[in-house]
Amino acid sequence: MDWKESSAGHGHSHGNDGQSCHGLHGAHSGHSHGFMPNFQFMQRGEAMLDPTQQPKKYTQIEDSSSWDIVKATQFGAFDRCKELVEAGYDVRQPDKENVTLLHWAAINNRIELIKYYLSKGAVVDQLGGDLNSTPLHWAIRQGHLQTVIQLMRYGADPSLVDGEGYAGLHLAVLFQNMPIAAYLMAKGQEVDASDANGQTSLMLAAQKIIGPEPTNFLLRCNASVNAVDKVNRNSPLHCAVLAGNVDSAHILLDSGASVELQNANGHTPLDLAHQVNSPMLIHMLDMVKNERKKSNTRCLRFLNSYQAVLQCVFSVCVMWALGAILDLNSESWLLKGVLLACLLAMINLSCRRLASATVQSLVPSTILIASIFWMFVTWCLWFLPDILYTHIHNLTSEVTWSHYGGANDVSPDCFGSSVLLPAYLQNRPWDCQGDRGGEEEGEHENIVVLAEAGCLDPRIFCTSCMMRKPMRAHHCFSCNSCIAKQDHHSLWINGCIGARNHHFFVLFLMTLNLLCSWMLYNCVMYWSQRCVSRASDGLWEMITELFTCSPWITYICIITLLHMAWASVTLAQQLYQIAFLGLTTAERASLLHGQRKLPPAYSLRQNPFNRGVLKNLVNFFQLRCCGLCKPLVLDWTQEIPMGLNRDHQMFNSLDPV
Ligand SMILES: [Zn+2]
Ligand SMILES: [Zn+2]
Repeated sequence: MDWKESSAGHGHSHGNDGQSCHGLHGAHSGHSHGFMPNFQFMQRGEAMLDPTQQPKKYTQIEDSSSWDIVKATQFGAFDRCKELVEAGYDVRQPDKENVTLLHWAAINNRIELIKYYLSKGAVVDQLGGDLNSTPLHWAIRQGHLQTVIQLMRYGADPSLVDGEGYAGLHLAVLFQNMPIAAYLMAKGQEVDASDANGQTSLMLAAQKIIGPEPTNFLLRCNASVNAVDKVNRNSPLHCAVLAGNVDSAHILLDSGASVELQNANGHTPLDLAHQVNSPMLIHMLDMVKNERKKSNTRCLRFLNSYQAVLQCVFSVCVMWALGAILDLNSESWLLKGVLLACLLAMINLSCRRLASATVQSLVPSTILIASIFWMFVTWCLWFLPDILYTHIHNLTSEVTWSHYGGANDVSPDCFGSSVLLPAYLQNRPWDCQGDRGGEEEGEHENIVVLAEAGCLDPRIFCTSCMMRKPMRAHHCFSCNSCIAKQDHHSLWINGCIGARNHHFFVLFLMTLNLLCSWMLYNCVMYWSQRCVSRASDGLWEMITELFTCSPWITYICIITLLHMAWASVTLAQQLYQIAFLGLTTAERASLLHGQRKLPPAYSLRQNPFNRGVLKNLVNFFQLRCCGLCKPLVLDWTQEIPMGLNRDHQMFNSLDPV
């Protein structure tokens, strides 16, 4: 029934024609997005607003003079429609499938025709089609925000329900058209309004939409997390569990959804998880239930308030224990094996008993801190005495150890600073929360203003934060915030890398690499002094020999190598992206993903943010070189960074899309 236009090249200009964001002065700072370059990065849920999917410009190649009025409406042949209506066609007259012309115009986003038909007396809330829907329902299903706005201007009622019992907001959520849902709520639709079955939009999102987006969005709009439907008395969490929707259940639990709530049959969400036989949901619900039960105990309250520090101490202890077991003065591998197994069992047990999702997210960063800590301790206790000894030895005798060349020239301060810098950089506040606008007051008016100006586009509006995104910003679901010029969410930092801290991150990687190289050098020096190894014996013999010589140093060396591996790969990738592409990791990934749509000869380097290797580096690191360079100073946290306009050089390069 839902006829969609083929991409055969028919059509008419789409609804955004003539509308732009110029001159928009809402509650926001009044900057406009009208000059957004065509170069835009594809993001979540963007496909529906992909310009290539919009109806194409009507070409005069095909003669429309013989079309009937339904076809002319579908293809947006305004003149032909007008001709037929003026010849006496009644615009209220439904076709044999009980569909009116207004329905056809709405589903195909023909705004001019909608205005024309309504001026000729069409009924705006006419029910029609198999689903007994209004034109507004059809427009919402298709995600045509401008049509929705037009129809509502003419008095269309979004609270009417269709044949399936869904009102406008339910349809917007079911079809994941979040800008329309935001607009409908801004226009006064209740977020907790129920459909014919008594289900709220949140229940529908939890039950029918896989992925975090609609659930997250509705919770941000204060949807009731413990509302129950009229029939089965299921809460949104019941719905998510029944549908096996892990993402949704996770978000609902985070928002405090009750795990004890019973439905009409006396079943809790956990009972339902057992019924649908989903081990993941059972584990998740069990964990939350136990966590909440224990959260009142004094011990856990203490653990929660100091979890980052405790996790750090825990990682340091575990790392020491692992090394200490390997370093045991015993020949028995059986003993070491048993001790290692005990250690693993203890880690496993403490993780199961105490670790919440927040603690788990801290694991990589605390491992890194613990590694740097033990590298420092190793340097102080193992390498420093050797260096000092050599130093004193040099002073007292003329003999130098040629094979230890160089190391004695480096003062301990040098190592101290190279240890402290990565530790400091890693622990500096990676504030990403500040990037959110989050003005609560006037939010609704603002959304209406933005929507009516055609600016409620997922590329420039974040439905999770309910604000216009700064240029090049992405929403991070881990930080639950829009991050200006987001690069990626780093596990090692446990935060987002964006405009505010990107250069610090690169500096951090550089110092970490330096530190690791320095540690490796010291390890080699230590071995060459303390361990007698015959290179001719082969690699394996050499490794066993080194390990027997000093298990702790070998252990630290392996940890160093592991950190160096990820740090050097990440640094190389970062420098390539910054210098040669001028792109962030997120932008590069989305461009690579969407490269199929681009011309075959297209290169990632042809983007408006790439200004050449030298300029990219100067801008990124804000290098002034005593006034020789003039880096471009932009505040990416602003909606449109100051000093950036359409005529700016940055947008003068090739347009890749
Ligand atoms: Zn956001
Ligand atoms: Zn993040």
